[in-house]
Amino acid sequence: SAASAPPGWEGPPVRDELRGKSPYGAPQLDVAVRLNTNENPYPLPEPLVERIAERVREAARNLNRYPDRDAVELRTGLAAYLTRTGGYPVALENVWAANGSNEVIQQLLQTFGGPGRTAIGFEPSYSMHALISRGTGTGWISGPRSEDFTIDLAAAERAIAEHRPNVVFITTPNNPTGNAVPSATVLALYEAAQAAGPSIVVVDEAYIEFSHGDSLLPLLEGRPNLVVSRTMSKAFGAAGLRLGYLAAHPAVVDAVQLVRLPYHLSAVTQATALAALEHTDTLLMYVEQLKAERDRLVTELRAIGYDVTESDANFVQFGRFEDSGTAWRRILDRGVLVRDNGVPGWLRVSAGTPAENDAFLDAVRELKKEQN
Ligand code: PMP
Repeated sequence: SAASAPPGWEGPPVRDELRGKSPYGAPQLDVAVRLNTNENPYPLPEPLVERIAERVREAARNLNRYPDRDAVELRTGLAAYLTRTGGYPVALENVWAANGSNEVIQQLLQTFGGPGRTAIGFEPSYSMHALISRGTGTGWISGPRSEDFTIDLAAAERAIAEHRPNVVFITTPNNPTGNAVPSATVLALYEAAQAAGPSIVVVDEAYIEFSHGDSLLPLLEGRPNLVVSRTMSKAFGAAGLRLGYLAAHPAVVDAVQLVRLPYHLSAVTQATALAALEHTDTLLMYVEQLKAERDRLVTELRAIGYDVTESDANFVQFGRFEDSGTAWRRILDRGVLVRDNGVPGWLRVSAGTPAENDAFLDAVRELKKEQN
């Protein structure tokens, strides 16, 4: 069969830096309450589903042709959304889109990182920044974070000055910890990165719509090496769509064209994302509900006696556990799937529907009784 191999074969000759590594993989288990991947728990509203069907039907009539390579209509719509909600005007030439913000990040690393270059992030943070760095041949530098999961500015500045990375990732609100990074910190890190580099500073705002505070989009003014990355996977409730985007100086958008695959955004993807943008206001009402549920999770977890990291995202980091792996399993035994991100002593729960959150709170209340 095609799964047989000669004796002595040591596996396919993968690149050295990939050898022995594990792929990204949150467990996709069949559990009643799944609060482990920061998805939006609300299915798209039916009128939007209808609109998607309509727009996709139109697109289907032209599927013999390649899609708009530059996704002009979609980028114009995304620019309008950012301008309306982000406190800073951006236009078509400032915006680029790809298949999820993971692909945006990959294109940025292919453009500004790569062999002989490095990227830094302040960990624990979004693990794909390191994994995509590795995948693009970019050296990864694990920058420091304080005990309380804030960025220690002096330590971060020292790390940038010492390593002179080509790409700096700042995730705000941060995943998996949930806390936002103050804009003064981002500004100082941008300055440090320009002094050491110049380097590209990527502000990953995947969860910004859930924040108590504002987007850092206005920081783009006069900072051509700053990139703000966004996604429709969370606030727009469209993780299955795979649509991420960025806002930056037009020269950054132009540079990314050098690595993007031709026609990378399918006509079906563009049509679906455009339909979703038409329903922005409805989708943002769900965001308000989720923010209230997130705040409730924080309050109730603290009332039960857990430590909780301040959250500006649609998830909450809670602890502390002697062994987070065991705690994760106990919660799963009660029918609720949360996330063990490998941060010792802590677990992460995504805000679900009120009923899902109640089920989660019941499970961790019982767990607390057990532990006492
Ligand atoms: N950035 C952060 C901080 C994330 O947590 C995620 C998804 N978990 C992403 C980017 C990627 O999301 P997507 O590719 O679905 O846009």
